[in-house]
Amino acid sequence: MERKRIVFGGTGVTSVKAYGKIKFPFTELKPTKTNEKYSPELEKKRFETAVKSTIKSTKALAQRARETIGENEAQIFEIHAMLLEDEDFLDSVYLEIEKGKSAEDSVLESGEKYSYILRSLGDEYLSARATDIKDVCYGIIDTLSAKTEKNIQEDEQYILVANDLTPTETVKLDKSKILGFATFEGTPSSHTAILARAMAIPAVVGIGKIPKEFDGMYAILDGIKGRLIINPSENEVLELENERKREEKIVKEHERYLRSIMHRPAVTESGQKVLIYANIGDIDEVDGALSNGAEGIGLLRSEFMYLARESEPSEDALFKIYKEIAIKMQGKRVVIRTLDIGADKQISYLPLEKEENPALGLRGVRLCLDRKELFKSQIRAILKASAFGRVSIMIPMISTKKEVLECKELIEKSKKELLMAGINFDSKIEIGIMIETPASAIISDILAREVDFFSVGTNDLTQYTYAIDRQNSRVSRIGDESHEAIMRLIKFSADAIHEAGGWIGVCGEMAADLSLTQDFVDIGIDELSVSVPYLLGVRGKVSSCK
Ligand code: PEP
Ligand code: MG
Repeated sequence: MERKRIVFGGTGVTSVKAYGKIKFPFTELKPTKTNEKYSPELEKKRFETAVKSTIKSTKALAQRARETIGENEAQIFEIHAMLLEDEDFLDSVYLEIEKGKSAEDSVLESGEKYSYILRSLGDEYLSARATDIKDVCYGIIDTLSAKTEKNIQEDEQYILVANDLTPTETVKLDKSKILGFATFEGTPSSHTAILARAMAIPAVVGIGKIPKEFDGMYAILDGIKGRLIINPSENEVLELENERKREEKIVKEHERYLRSIMHRPAVTESGQKVLIYANIGDIDEVDGALSNGAEGIGLLRSEFMYLARESEPSEDALFKIYKEIAIKMQGKRVVIRTLDIGADKQISYLPLEKEENPALGLRGVRLCLDRKELFKSQIRAILKASAFGRVSIMIPMISTKKEVLECKELIEKSKKELLMAGINFDSKIEIGIMIETPASAIISDILAREVDFFSVGTNDLTQYTYAIDRQNSRVSRIGDESHEAIMRLIKFSADAIHEAGGWIGVCGEMAADLSLTQDFVDIGIDELSVSVPYLLGVRGKVSSCK
């Protein structure tokens, strides 16, 4: 018997389609409210412990999103971690607990109250944030009730259908199992939708409630028109298949072309060469960088290795990793950035004092110059590794000449110590600084005389130039919409370092923005450093620049 074709309309989030069985794997997590009496003191303690642990797991999730999707997406979870520290929210939960409710019920009650307020403000953006509140609350409740992740046991790939997905659930989706997802609720500007786009998962939101009896039926998920077509016609399925084959062919041809030029220098049509380097956070990314044609490592974010570990890595542990990276890169340049913590990057075993404005506080080189022993062990580890390859030191968050001089003095001191101890190192090791503050760009002519190279951290340079908190997705679009101020600062810095005989790279996210590649070429940027998935694309783009 022919099954009836039914179409559910919503809003497409990604312009991709999928075909497969639909599944409803999630059951709504809602703790049942009880009338029991609880000890407020005990419940408060349980709540506090759960919040601490949820902050930790949320930060780990941010890290995972940062590594697998991107910085903007990681910020979603960083914001969740901030919500978990929001005093108004915490106070509202305490108030509920004092009324004699369990910690779970109190979190749920406060979450519902906040979500309701956000939804009722009549603003689409704020309304979409209600899901974030829900995500944060469910995270705490999961921790309180020691629930483990909801794992979906499915052998075949399927289209996931759910009431709504929280950002946490979205980022944890197993892409090998999920063909796409459709949610009854949700808006295209929700973080869930943003994540789906970044993860290139076909998705449609806001399709309205679908009865459970459709579970297991075949459907087309059309992310372009924003539809879920249950029991599509044979023709529709055939057309989808043909479309997919045509697209696959185009994508494969482009990739084949990019792979064919992977080991050729990236040279523009007018003969200008640009080095294509990789940004990495740990040694496990080196193979991927090399197999995607990286000519060097332009940014090793050494703090990621600190963040991924339970305790502070010793000088020797750092040396061993750096040495291994230097050897693996076989003489290709490896730019190791000294620790850049503070602001959004916090390490539990290196507690920092609470600051009113952490992004303007003791971060990056400021912290390292404040804790010289911490700084010196990094410098020594980098120097020792320089005997095994072409290693450079790079200092983040520079804003004055004095900072550069102090760093150079410490490097010299460390060199002397190694010399005395008979330990090998590259005596001519390159020293570079990051241009991440407007101040460093403005005095780049002065700084250029002190160092061998500059690398522009456009993420922070954008934040500090436009005065937009890089954690705050409500203002981040200001930086996306206009790059003129940043480009002027980069050009000024490029001219300054070239005049002094040095080189300049760009290692912030803008380096991977192909709409800016021609501008970087025009400015005379010598190197673009991007995360591994962007290496081929950037190389291809440079080759087609004028
Ligand atoms: C930058 O600020 O652009 C940069 C590369 O450093 P991070 O993103 O690690 O702050
Ligand atoms: Mg930075």
